[in-house]
Amino acid sequence: MDEFETLAVHAGESADPETGALRLPLHMSTTFKLPPFGIKLFEALQMEGARAPHAYSRWSNPTLRALEDRLCALEGAPAAVVTATGMAAVSALVFTLLSSGDHLIASEVCYAGSVELFGIHLPRFGIQVSLVDTSDLDQVRAALRPNTRLIYAETPANPILRIADITGLAQIAHSAGALLAIDSTWAGPLVQRPLTLGADYVIHSLTKYLNGHGDALGGAVLGPLDGIHRIRREMLVHLGGALSPFNAWLIMRGLVTLPLRCERHNQSGLEVARFLEAHPKVSRVIYPGLESHPHHELAKRQMTGFGGMITFQLKDGLGAAINLAEKIRIFAYATSLGHAHSLLFYYPTDLYVDAAPYLVPEQKARIREWTGEGIVRVSVGLENVKDLIADLNQALNARTVKGVLGPAAYKLLKKMGK
Ligand SMILES: *Cc1c(COP(=O)(O)O)cnc(C)c1O
Repeated sequence: MDEFETLAVHAGESADPETGALRLPLHMSTTFKLPPFGIKLFEALQMEGARAPHAYSRWSNPTLRALEDRLCALEGAPAAVVTATGMAAVSALVFTLLSSGDHLIASEVCYAGSVELFGIHLPRFGIQVSLVDTSDLDQVRAALRPNTRLIYAETPANPILRIADITGLAQIAHSAGALLAIDSTWAGPLVQRPLTLGADYVIHSLTKYLNGHGDALGGAVLGPLDGIHRIRREMLVHLGGALSPFNAWLIMRGLVTLPLRCERHNQSGLEVARFLEAHPKVSRVIYPGLESHPHHELAKRQMTGFGGMITFQLKDGLGAAINLAEKIRIFAYATSLGHAHSLLFYYPTDLYVDAAPYLVPEQKARIREWTGEGIVRVSVGLENVKDLIADLNQALNARTVKGVLGPAAYKLLKKMGK
């Protein structure tokens, strides 16, 4: 078996037999010439799934298939389907696996698009949803119902970096006849392999670490052949969230350097986290690689590194966060993550927890205990770590503009939808 770094360069790609071109051709064709036996071919497509001949690019396309093959090799998965965005992957998974009357258990804190889909929209279709702290196996066990079909956890969880025990969740799911899906976007396959830890499905937003350059949206679901084939047939074809071949081509190129980039994200992430933990303006740092993280031991067991995502709290709260956002120079004040370019973003707890209609007061209190007044989410990029630390240091130490900010800044953030 080839090693990860070799697969990142080679899997899914081979020299073009006609031209000898080593790099994967970009096939923008939407349609493919078919042998003239009409309806039978479509039957064959239904049956054969991933390896069926290409007919139409919403179903499959050679450039997309190359990316699917590379992702399978990196994640150790039997099959993959790529989608237009990470959210298209999440929605394709839940709408394929769940029907009216089924029950889903999902992380109460995860990517906002996902938790809002689960908490607000799935119930409209008669799907029962329990949102729990998936880092607490007792809560997951207690939420099981006879009709539980799927447990969905994000680990590390966006944006608060709770870690969920993948093996423990798999045991709970399987003993109840349910499936386990893990959104592994924040770790990536170099750092964490949910399928080898017992999960049935893995979700990635390819937009983040896997592409790594901040220039292409994309998503993927990886898992068993029959399940992935169902997602392609039932959801890609019907909901229509197919990936652009150009984005697939960019993401293939990004994957080549995934191992190198992730090693650097792991190293710099830990250094920046240690710097922040020692900084007098910072009240709490949440990073799975720090001994102070409540799930550090678990993270050491199931991850081979701790990534470049850090969350921290400021002693002076919102005012200090606005000040930081204004003074930061190398980091961009921006959402998203996993890019070469370092990013940071502030989440006031009031806005993202108290405003959530799907959370009960007990959950809001539990999340608030973890996040305090608000958190700065940091995506440590590939710049020199000394520059990154110096940048954070100057921005944290800059004089806080007092008084002016308070409610006005708060309103501004609300207007921005964050
Ligand atoms: C960004 C993100 C998503 C959504 O991905 P898009 O490509 O933006 O649709 C899903 N899960 C996690 C953990 C994410 O960080």
